[in-house]
Amino acid sequence: MATRKTPAPVIADQEPAKCPICQGSGEVSRTVRVGRKRRTVGQQTGLCLACLGSGEAPID
Ligand SMILES: [Zn+2]
Repeated sequence: MATRKTPAPVIADQEPAKCPICQGSGEVSRTVRVGRKRRTVGQQTGLCLACLGSGEAPID
């Protein structure tokens, strides 16, 4: 019985798209302001909520 070749599945050899929010870092920095004058006291790094820290663009 002849071996029937099945076509190899096409594997997309490409990197996952970077998250547009954190640019692939998985973290986002946000400016911290305090007081009524909204004085900037620094920046805080937080988990990117768009990709949940994976750095990859969420696939819809
Ligand atoms: Zn992100």
